[in-house]
Amino acid sequence: ATPMSIMVGVGKGAGLGILVRNAEALELLEKVDTLVVDKTGTLTEGKPSVTDVVAAEGFEEEDVLRFAGAVERASEHPLGQAVVAAAEGRGLDVPTVTDFDAPSGKGVSGKVGGRMTLVGNAEFMKSRGVDVSALTARADELRRDGATAIYVGLDGMLAGVLAIADPIKPTTAEAIRTLKLQGLRVVMLTGDNRTTAEVVARRLGIEEVEADVLPEAKHAVVERLKREGHVVAMAGDGVNDAPALAAADVGVAMGAGADVAIESAGVTLLHGDLTGIVRARRLSEATMSNIR
Ligand code: ADP
Ligand code: MG
Repeated sequence: ATPMSIMVGVGKGAGLGILVRNAEALELLEKVDTLVVDKTGTLTEGKPSVTDVVAAEGFEEEDVLRFAGAVERASEHPLGQAVVAAAEGRGLDVPTVTDFDAPSGKGVSGKVGGRMTLVGNAEFMKSRGVDVSALTARADELRRDGATAIYVGLDGMLAGVLAIADPIKPTTAEAIRTLKLQGLRVVMLTGDNRTTAEVVARRLGIEEVEADVLPEAKHAVVERLKREGHVVAMAGDGVNDAPALAAADVGVAMGAGADVAIESAGVTLLHGDLTGIVRARRLSEATMSNIR
């Protein structure tokens, strides 16, 4: 590979909104046969909002949102920001939280007005002794619409469910279609629930889904695919995605993503949509055929 052709390729990329951090990424892109994509913020907008508030028997919707909002105000997760926005949008007086904790990939907990409040997935509720069975059917129904459903627990009791929807980016479906036509295997990777993940995947024509993956396990999925002999690109935007981006043959960070994601990736797509991968692969082919 002549350094000159690579430099020309890197320069062309910059003009297309494709920032190449290392030349090897540009060389490898054309050889990639498997693309792993994080759902939230990569396939979807990453701007979730609360669409439904369901109160369990004996609880009020406003309390579900108020208590959940209080704990989530201390969270940096996009799901948390959606809950806070919904509580404030309803003009609720959101109290302050103490003893805040945020077990990664599960949810958040804290004391609100002396009451132990939990917000998170089924696994998290179970681990803290909250029985969610009264609302699992309702939660599944919300998930079949493609929403993320999270539970709210108050003093060990199930208080309600919140549905949070994150729209798919308008450019995603076409980009996935093109990448599949180019023969790429596309795998969705998410910490979200399987039902929600599969609904989103089906809408995009993605057949392979790795759901309920804890943040610290995301890179293991990439490593397994590499061990199977694939040349793997991983696209993601979150702090959680950084180790997986670093583990991939080519890490692709979305432009609006977390700094640590961008630092862990070989390529950053400034426009923040997957159409950039189609373009980046073309650039890689052109660069490498110049060299050959
Ligand atoms: P993703 O792969 O979408 O980035 P995460 O690993 O961040 O997912 O989270 C996985 C799951 O954990 C979420 O779908 C949600 O059920 C739960 N969760 C994580 N953070 C929060 C939070 N702040 N509030 C409620 N639930 C949360
Ligand atoms: Mg994420």
